[in-house]
Amino acid sequence: PRSATSKKQAASVEFRNVTKRYGTVTAVDDVSFIIDAGQLVTLLGPSGCGKTTTLRMIAGLEMASSGQILIGGKDVTNLSAADRDVSMVFQSYALFPHMSVLENVAYGPSVQGASKKDAQAMAMEKLALVGLTGLEKRVPSELSGGQQQRVAVARALVLEPQVLLFDEPLSNLDAKLRRRVREDIRELQQSLNLTVAYVTHDQEEALAVSDRIIVMSNARIAQTGTPRELYEEPADLFVADFIGDANILNGTVVGLTGPQARVQVDRLHIDLPHRGAGQGPVKLAVRPDAILIDESGPQPGEIAGQVRKVSYLGTQIEYEVESPIGELFVVQYGRKEPIAAGTPVSISFALQRGVAIIPGA
Ligand code: ATP
Repeated sequence: PRSATSKKQAASVEFRNVTKRYGTVTAVDDVSFIIDAGQLVTLLGPSGCGKTTTLRMIAGLEMASSGQILIGGKDVTNLSAADRDVSMVFQSYALFPHMSVLENVAYGPSVQGASKKDAQAMAMEKLALVGLTGLEKRVPSELSGGQQQRVAVARALVLEPQVLLFDEPLSNLDAKLRRRVREDIRELQQSLNLTVAYVTHDQEEALAVSDRIIVMSNARIAQTGTPRELYEEPADLFVADFIGDANILNGTVVGLTGPQARVQVDRLHIDLPHRGAGQGPVKLAVRPDAILIDESGPQPGEIAGQVRKVSYLGTQIEYEVESPIGELFVVQYGRKEPIAAGTPVSISFALQRGVAIIPGA
């Protein structure tokens, strides 16, 4: 048995061409990625895309149909869950209802052979880490949802796994609590230098907590990158649409100079990284804050539109704007005077940063 103070190294996780089939359903299709040691990586995607199956294959709760899984560089493809040194925090927390908080957390080390005294000391240490000191004697039904979630985290941490897995950990919490708990998880991960794989379908949550995000769609990886890379350089239409809000506009590359392309959208021009596009038609992902609308009449090189709908949201104002390049979703920050519905506006690109050519679209 390990002592309460032993600290193990976080390990990397690697998938090499991993496929998982259930009968005729391919849940995960030839997926390869690396999660570096000490990083928090989210598996993000819509329902049914294969993210939970991927997480369960890291844990050893599902076996790969083909391909290789490595943890800390060691091939674990055929190891059972118990032999993988990985802990999982389940969506439902899966606490033992009749055991106290302390017993819940001390259970793992006890099963692994620690003395009662050692197991309880280890449990106390992890309960302190998640801020639950003083609640050791309660049973789960006497705790709030957020507290139960923290017990589940302490129970996963107490075995000091090389890799910690989270399956939609915030889904049973209310909106206010979600933000706090996701920050707590991120803080804990960083201070303990844990390797974490984290499943969510919520793109905002993924952007907020991740070092890197693996976006999945239809059993495959659509794109892997930092939150900023995914937002600013989406690899395809799916990612552009799934991460944040995007206006997808038709443009034409009218000139190429080194890495830059000059793109024309109706009467607008913008210089952007070409991302492999040649002369001719392209699709652009345009973020809602990258479009400027104002009430002065259109200048040369701007286009005329009309505000259809206004939503005042305090820190931001959202607009639907009708225009010759399509219906636009526009967000203004910075406490401007709202523009009333029905007002004619001129439209231009406000920022280069929020506009990207979508390769191959
Ligand atoms: P959700 O967010 O809804 O949990 P997910 O992205 O986690 O979705 P998975 O649970 O990994 O998706 O499922 C991927 C696909 O595999 C789905 O089509 C699902 O129906 C199928 N699948 C998952 N588990 C099984 C199983 N045990 N038997 C048969 N099909 C399964």
